[in-house]
Amino acid sequence: MSEAAPVASDIPTTWFRLARAPALAVLVDLDGTLLPFAPTVEEAGLDDAAAGVLRGLAAVGAHVVVVSGRPRAAIDPLRDAVPAAWWFAEHGAWRHTDGRWQAPTVAAELGDLARRLASLAERVPGARLEQKSLAVGLHWRRVAEADRPALIAGAEQLVDEWLEAQPAFERLDGAAVLEVRHRAAHKGTAVAWVRARLPADARLIALGDDATDEDTFAALTDDDAAVLVGAPDRRSHADWWVPDPDGARALLRWLVEARVAPGPPPPAPVRPWTRARAARPQHPLVIMSNRTPTVGSGRGKEVGGLVSALTPIVERTGGVWLGWSGAERAPGLALAFDPEPPPALATFDYPPGWREAFYGGFCNQSLWPLLHGFPGRVRYVDEEWTTYVTANAAYARLAARLTPPTGTVWIHDYHLLLAAAALRQLGHAGPIGLFLHVPFPPRDVWETLPWHREVIDALLACDLIGFHTRRWADNFLAAAPHGVAGLRRDGDRLVRDGRATTVGVFPIGIEPAGFRPPPAGDPADDLDGLRALLAGRKLVLGVDRLDYSKGIPERLEAFRRLLQLFPAWRRQVSFVQVSVPSRAEVPEYAELRRRVEELVGRINGEFGEADWVPVRYLYRSYPPAVLAPLYRLAAVGMVTPLRDGMNLVAKEFVAAQRDDDPGVLLLSRFAGAAEALDAALLTNPYHVDGVAADLDRALRMELDERRARHARLITAATSPTATSWADDFLARLAEVAAGRSTSG
Ligand code: UDP
Repeated sequence: MSEAAPVASDIPTTWFRLARAPALAVLVDLDGTLLPFAPTVEEAGLDDAAAGVLRGLAAVGAHVVVVSGRPRAAIDPLRDAVPAAWWFAEHGAWRHTDGRWQAPTVAAELGDLARRLASLAERVPGARLEQKSLAVGLHWRRVAEADRPALIAGAEQLVDEWLEAQPAFERLDGAAVLEVRHRAAHKGTAVAWVRARLPADARLIALGDDATDEDTFAALTDDDAAVLVGAPDRRSHADWWVPDPDGARALLRWLVEARVAPGPPPPAPVRPWTRARAARPQHPLVIMSNRTPTVGSGRGKEVGGLVSALTPIVERTGGVWLGWSGAERAPGLALAFDPEPPPALATFDYPPGWREAFYGGFCNQSLWPLLHGFPGRVRYVDEEWTTYVTANAAYARLAARLTPPTGTVWIHDYHLLLAAAALRQLGHAGPIGLFLHVPFPPRDVWETLPWHREVIDALLACDLIGFHTRRWADNFLAAAPHGVAGLRRDGDRLVRDGRATTVGVFPIGIEPAGFRPPPAGDPADDLDGLRALLAGRKLVLGVDRLDYSKGIPERLEAFRRLLQLFPAWRRQVSFVQVSVPSRAEVPEYAELRRRVEELVGRINGEFGEADWVPVRYLYRSYPPAVLAPLYRLAAVGMVTPLRDGMNLVAKEFVAAQRDDDPGVLLLSRFAGAAEALDAALLTNPYHVDGVAADLDRALRMELDERRARHARLITAATSPTATSWADDFLARLAEVAAGRSTSG
């Protein structure tokens, strides 16, 4: 799709050319595009006017392609009305051409999710589950307004959990529907199929109204036209828009006429998508991270630390956050803008292969274990490194489009270590900062990376590189100069050819307000069931993403050892481990899940009683509003990662405690958080017997000591906040970039 916005005077020419193209295909979605929405698909037939306009197009030699999300059964009754058309059902999964339906080629395993969604839908009047071959959708168009939020929240949680373990599927938020479908079942496949059938110079015009049609739009080329049916107030790949299905029909009627009229017809009833395609937007600040957060109006909303830290700054400065959309599509990187939900987002889809080679491969199987200091888990694949280089260059190109050469770019994390250098090659002269959210290992581990020199070399394009702790910063400063010609360390700066890169320590914080105890005590909530089960026993709590760096098996072993070495605790304590699904497509993570589940089973089998389950294991995530009272319920928060960049759970746990009767934080000395939270009970997660002894001590700790420790911890846990962290980093970046020319 072209970069420049169509100029007003070009509009008639562009459309006249399209209408007269020797080979033309018109791809239309049905519901919301050609047809106004009806409560159910059964009620949304193809009226005579709509069928007539499609037949008219076919009569003037255009290929009519209906690309619908409907199941085949809801397409079949329509086919006779437009005999010449090609029909795609279920977003391109099924195709009706040459007189029969062609089956999808990938098998789906949606049964389990469909059952869970169905039992949710059963309880809400009007909710309807639609099961297709490669997708399942929950519809709430007929659900009462008051019932919707709970239904939507329940469905989203179910779906998101399920998706963590099902990377071949993706979530789509449609109009009053939440759908999960196989990644192979998207409307872009219809575009590819149609194009292959037509001559090379064929032009395609596609009309659609919702998120599923974006796949059609994204698969079009510069010479085609993507027309959004609806207001141009959202993120889209569309070039043009018409306000509603009537507008869509008017445009199609115009096409029929323009294709055969002897003279130029009146202008097409379509308007350019100026909002998304106006002259390149120039943002003074670009935040770059592998993936953008999922934000928005209550649906799929994310409230992670980084989002709350960066949103105010992006908003205040008129900046934009650039990253992967989470989807994968055909080659060619098209940026989609979403200026609406703060922060403003610019997203793009990964080209084929990046998910495996860039994200799953080099990022998560090379850099993640390397930077966390697990060389035994690292694997280096040349091809994946090549994709990493390509991907970093692509991110840089996209960033350069979003900001003037003097703009500020703040790069986040290990996915984008080469992006700063790629930006400089594109002529970017403004401040560039990079924050590494993970640890940095000692030199001899770092140098196992075959490309460690190249990475350091690229990092020197940054003005400022930030770490959570002094230890990670020192590791980096000590390792960097080796093997990079002309580079020397000058205190906290790395200097080459008179140009300095400053290294700084910026420990990220939380937004404490959401975790502090309410003055009137916790209201009755979802945890009442757990309170009843505990029946006065002490709760030991673990909350982590399911990642080997978090030391979950080691923690379970330590709890088992506690029950062996200190049998008095049997029946007196319960351990609850919340494990948030993570990176399930990477084999190590699937293996870790099995190992943890097996350990939980073993401990419960070995020590459990009819009225006491020692370990409760929850493979799911909770919103902060549930975590906060859960943290308060715990006598001991066990935060024992083998290595962690920071660990926000540790800070949240402290913030959540009541000052008069706080729980004990048992914290790994290898978590970045231990640098500031040194009043916690620090432990060595590699030493199982030691952790068991420390856990015993934590469980026995008297009120006075708990209070004294908490009084020292609370300040360190609640400042800096997430927001002040971001402000500090950007202020320092501006400072060091301003002094750049005199450095060295
Ligand atoms: N978290 C959550 N729901 C859960 C478990 C965790 O929202 O059920 C959040 C938690 O509140 C914390 C973040 O996930 O803010 C985890 O951050 P941390 O730094 O501890 O670990 P990371 O996952 O970034 O390695």
